[in-house]
Amino acid sequence: MAVALITGSSRGIGAAIALRLAQDGFDIALNDLNESMFEDNDIVDKIKETGVKCETFCADVSDYAQCEEMVNAVKEKLGGFDVLVNNAGITKDGLMARMSEEQYDVVINVNQKSVFNMMKLAGKIMMKQRSGKIVNLASVAGLYGNPGQVNYSASKAAIIGMTKTVAKELGSRNVNVNAVAPGFIKTPMTDKLTEEQRNAMLQMIAMKRYGLPEEIAGVVSFLVSDDASYVTGQVIEISGGLSM
Ligand code: NAP
Repeated sequence: MAVALITGSSRGIGAAIALRLAQDGFDIALNDLNESMFEDNDIVDKIKETGVKCETFCADVSDYAQCEEMVNAVKEKLGGFDVLVNNAGITKDGLMARMSEEQYDVVINVNQKSVFNMMKLAGKIMMKQRSGKIVNLASVAGLYGNPGQVNYSASKAAIIGMTKTVAKELGSRNVNVNAVAPGFIKTPMTDKLTEEQRNAMLQMIAMKRYGLPEEIAGVVSFLVSDDASYVTGQVIEISGGLSM
């Protein structure tokens, strides 16, 4: 059975991707900062109900040593490493004039450096086995910018550049590397926005509704499937027509 690791997958988009890949038949490695995140919800039970294996791995993905330990543990416990979904991400919003250096650095480390850490480690295994799929979570903020998110949009724009670069580096070894760029998706991350911010966003969306985590998971499912075997280095926007 092929094995998929989804970072930051105790809730939100990551949990929806994990469940969808379990339904597709992958054994699932869930990741979050600490075990208590998995105790608060039923994602592990839901995945196991599909009949696949599911293990949880606690690691801060901004820390290279913790990522290395996690990747080794996934291989040991689940017996392989075929799909990596870099989903973990945070926001620390504020207008640039008021943003602290710490606010900037932490978002870059968690959102962007983590993708380097995990792609480097997974890439080594995938190059050796001459197969693998990587999907990175970018954002429309990385494509178009968003006031109040200079840190977040920088991290997400970087992920797009990294996706294209690593797709070129690993393509000859049969490793596909793609990104998805969600728009406004209903999760705990966006629940933090004010009513005013949410309404302003809704005006710009052609479909006049927010997206669901399952609508991101469906595209990720396609990108890691054999149907997408000749797709690499691409960024698929999933935003209900935010930018047209
Ligand atoms: P979310 O509900 O806040 O979930 C993010 C997950 O990442 C949480 O489980 C969180 O765990 C985990 N995480 C945070 N820092 C971590 C770290 N250092 N190591 C490991 N795990 C960590 O967010 P979401 O809305 O589902 O977003 C998922 C991804 O989609 C993110 O990359 C986000 O930028 C991207 N995205 C989301 C939207 C949207 O509208 N929601 C739009 C565009 C892009 P803790 O709870 O322990 O912090």
